Amino acid sequence: MKRLFFIVIILFAIISYASAQKYIFLFIGDGMGQADIDLYEAYLAEKDGKSGFVQSNISKIPLLSMCSTVCKDRRITDSGAAGSAIACGQKFNVGEISYSESGNQPKSIAKIAKEKGLKVGIISTAPMNHATPAAFYANQQTRKNYYQIGLQLPESNFDFFGGGGLLKQTGNKKEEKDLMTLYQEAGYLTFTSTKAISSLKNHNTKVIFTNETLERDASMPYKIDREDSPNSSLAEIVATAITHLDNPKGFFMMVEGGKIDYAAHDNDAATMIGEMEDFDNAVAEAYNFYLQHKNETLIIITADHETGGVSLGIADNGYESDFGILIKQKMSMSKFATIIKKLTKNEESVSMKDYSDMASKYFIGIDMNFSSDELSLLNEAFADANIKNNRAKSEVKSKYNGNNPMAYAYCQIMNRRASVGFSTNSHTCAKVPVYAIGTTAPIYDNTEIFNVIKTFIEK
Ligand SMILES: [Zn+2]
Repeated sequence: MKRLFFIVIILFAIISYASAQKYIFLFIGDGMGQADIDLYEAYLAEKDGKSGFVQSNISKIPLLSMCSTVCKDRRITDSGAAGSAIACGQKFNVGEISYSESGNQPKSIAKIAKEKGLKVGIISTAPMNHATPAAFYANQQTRKNYYQIGLQLPESNFDFFGGGGLLKQTGNKKEEKDLMTLYQEAGYLTFTSTKAISSLKNHNTKVIFTNETLERDASMPYKIDREDSPNSSLAEIVATAITHLDNPKGFFMMVEGGKIDYAAHDNDAATMIGEMEDFDNAVAEAYNFYLQHKNETLIIITADHETGGVSLGIADNGYESDFGILIKQKMSMSKFATIIKKLTKNEESVSMKDYSDMASKYFIGIDMNFSSDELSLLNEAFADANIKNNRAKSEVKSKYNGNNPMAYAYCQIMNRRASVGFSTNSHTCAKVPVYAIGTTAPIYDNTEIFNVIKTFIEK
């Protein structure tokens, strides 16, 4: 009798253990190298008048390994191949969305979680049919198939999509049916307010949240450019998703800080720090959730690749640094470029003084007495901005990576005064950090993340 009692107890323990709730947060900082985290922590310190670094929420996560991001056909990857490698646990070619050249279309970890009965959320500050989020619900030969990717979103039947809007919402020729209409027809409720989602009576509904204001490229505005209301922060979206997805079986949530990469491509350090802050605050939501559900929660924080070749310290400044000066940048370089465009639209000629006045009013609240190095940077950009010849114009465009030369030059001055360096406008193959809690497995390659999560789901 006693033995039977023990067997029943053990069986009960096994059953309840096997059906334990599973909460999984996968954070992907697009383009986020370890130097971006370091820069953000140095910035936090300077904001508080301290030396060194102030610990971010990210670095409170105890297990850290560095992982390779290389893809199948190139050492320096892109978001398509890298997002797909994280999502599916195998390597892809540049631009592929969970679709290999042999036609193989593997199931992402998000789809596996959904099949196991977990609810699924996909969140990004970039558009929801952009490469990284797409890798978790779509299978497409190329990331450029935005409309086709969008068509695959409702097929996933995932429970929460949130953040940016949609690229090519009505197809390349604007002749296709509106994707958002298709989502509503597929049973998705659509929102631009996170509060409205939190106060839903029935959380068994599928929802799509898009931020109240979106940029022309359908991404959320940068944090540095975002007025608090009516916009949402990434942290608010994650908190809303937790409320909506929480259920007895648990959930899988992929959260992308999609525009760390955009700012790094622009070599815009202050804007990049803002995106880091937005991302790090979102990590805090997950970490607080972890503290309440310790044995049931897995958090992984990583990047798809590094962007910009960021350095803390530059050759021109030797051992000097002043990262705190970046607080004085008032908006993103790209927003300042649109202001320049607007204000100079009807002007015959724009003088250096005009540019300087615009820069001090809208962009950089710093001492405008420029050093000779800074002046030569500005003079070169000024000459480039005034080029009329078409061929030379296209050279200028590639020289400044498509950015306004003057906005770029002022931004470079900010970076230099801070001692933040960028070695490229593209991605690098520097290894990226993987922070984790809820597992003890070190992760040395981006394809290993899939198995760590799968093992956790099946635990
Ligand atoms: Zn990327």
